[in-house]
Amino acid sequence: MRVVYLDNNATTRVADKAREAMLPYLIDLYGNPSSMHTFGGQIHRKIETAREHAAALINAEPGEIIFTSCGTESDNTAVMNALTSRPEKRHIITSRVEHPAVLNFCKTMARRGYRVTFLPVDKLGRLNLDELKAAMTDDTGIVSIMYANNESGVIFPIEEIAAIVKSKGALFHTDAVQAAGKIPIDIKKIPADMMSISGHKMHAPKGVAALYVKKTARFSPYIIGGHQERGRRAGTENVASIIAFGEACKLAKNHTGPESTSVKDLRDRLEQGLLRTCPQSRVNGDTEDRLPNTANISFEYVEGEAILLRLNEFNICASSGSACTSGSLEPSHVLRAMGVPFTAIHGSVRFSLSRYTTDDDIDLVLKKMPEIIKDLRELSPYGREFKEANH
Ligand code: PLP
Repeated sequence: MRVVYLDNNATTRVADKAREAMLPYLIDLYGNPSSMHTFGGQIHRKIETAREHAAALINAEPGEIIFTSCGTESDNTAVMNALTSRPEKRHIITSRVEHPAVLNFCKTMARRGYRVTFLPVDKLGRLNLDELKAAMTDDTGIVSIMYANNESGVIFPIEEIAAIVKSKGALFHTDAVQAAGKIPIDIKKIPADMMSISGHKMHAPKGVAALYVKKTARFSPYIIGGHQERGRRAGTENVASIIAFGEACKLAKNHTGPESTSVKDLRDRLEQGLLRTCPQSRVNGDTEDRLPNTANISFEYVEGEAILLRLNEFNICASSGSACTSGSLEPSHVLRAMGVPFTAIHGSVRFSLSRYTTDDDIDLVLKKMPEIIKDLRELSPYGREFKEANH
């Protein structure tokens, strides 16, 4: 049965070329890239080609790319690297809307005695850069601010943020897991020391990611063991997935230009259609600086989970602002930080598109949603509130 997959910020379909590229390494070419023999050695060279593709995606040097197991590992490694390589610095700055891979890591560091500043955002999900400047002290070792938010799609002015952080002498890391492959990134223009990207958000398989570390930055490995990744990340390489990731980066580089314009057109058609046909709906987040594939829409007085269940009956996949990353029913920390009212957080749905999204997919959602919202409002305990508000 056809699946209308609009949950690409959660994970993506593996691109055909990426899958084809990895298969030989799961069948015949199973050697260990660290081995001395030719059988293993040829695989080492393929990993280096994948590294070149990953570097090219963000305009970095291949030697600045460390392959890791996931975006979470890249994020943890980045913050930990700063804390270990400059142990005298005890202050971390991040934002309230980071992914748990950064947010919870920083909360853990706070419990271990570091001082952590969690910068607020405004109602459109934007940071106030004066607050960043004011928060920085001589003790600030690392600032970690995401490139684009996974829930709202809001893009932060990362060049400007990095410049502020570097002018104060701290290290800067950006979690670009949602930005990479969706918008062009030129790391040469961003004075960042570290940047995380993840394969499964850009049509590579799960279980592979990368951390960019500027060649002039100090680096202490987080995973310690063998000499893989030039001693910067131990563990036998996930060869097949790294090769697929390289292929996906190559494809993404060709798609972040005009291709993402068509993704944006589809997203805009979806968003405008829903706002027009579903009363009491609103977009969450800045619509100016936003990923081209993401629409986070609140349908007041309805439960997001109920919407998802009804969409699921038509094989339409999206996600809600309360189940979000943790699989719990905690309201989204991102929407809460933006001050979105309770009734709107609970009725929020995130639609995230990809280059595989079609016009037919959008047509189906636009056809089904008005009826779903109308039905649910009749049933919802908030239904009475809705009727009163619209009387
Ligand atoms: N950072 C952001 C912004 C994300 O959206 C995600 C995943 O949703 C991660 C980090 C974690 O990436 P991974 O799933 O590869 O660990």
